[in-house]
Amino acid sequence: MSETLAFFGGTFDPVHCGHLIIARSVMEQARLDRLTFVPAGLPPHKAGAYSAAAHRLAMLKLAVAGHDELAVSDIELARPGRSFTYDTLCALRALHPRAELLWLIGLDMLEDLPRWYRAKELVREFDFLVAMRPPGGPLLAEASEALRQAFGVRLAKKLTARVLPTPLVDISSTAIRARVASGQPIDWLTPPPVAQYVRENGLYRK
Ligand code: ATP
Repeated sequence: MSETLAFFGGTFDPVHCGHLIIARSVMEQARLDRLTFVPAGLPPHKAGAYSAAAHRLAMLKLAVAGHDELAVSDIELARPGRSFTYDTLCALRALHPRAELLWLIGLDMLEDLPRWYRAKELVREFDFLVAMRPPGGPLLAEASEALRQAFGVRLAKKLTARVLPTPLVDISSTAIRARVASGQPIDWLTPPPVAQYVRENGLYRK
């Protein structure tokens, strides 16, 4: 039987418990063999606003340590600038020709999907999984309408059928960065080794 592999793209600045709770829930629901986090490389004009790739990668590795079913890939960091998801998936398909590949996104990204590079080919050729994210239902209704207009009924249905009933976790990297900047603790929002890494490396301080 071929493997089912999911890839979870994002900035992960930093990775947080929302990402990990979603990853676990999706693994169980979609019966995945492995879920791999894929931190994004950033275009030069955006890079200054985010932590260096090496920090984001290091924090992801700390977050998945000891969990063999979770992995981290530097495939997008190895290329200069931001990688397009379509190109990344084509590269992954070449690396794993026999596996079933799934690209995981949070519900907030679904509405945005029509604006992605080669969006139609992307949703025609590859399969997505979508995790719920607050505010849940209202966000899904907006996304469904945007998908219908951009892709037509059939492809919109294909995408909305992949929205999984994952827990609604109201944690974001933005909120974590804001807490650190104002001197508030981030315990329980991100795994302890990641919180420690943020402290030791002075990330997100004003
Ligand atoms: P930021 O606040 O910096 O925008 P973020 O918390 O949204 O960051 P990203 O690294 O941008 O985190 O997200 C990577 C992926 O994880 C995206 O597809 C996003 O929708 C999803 N995601 C992030 N946080 C959650 C959450 N709490 N619940 C569900 N999905 C999430």
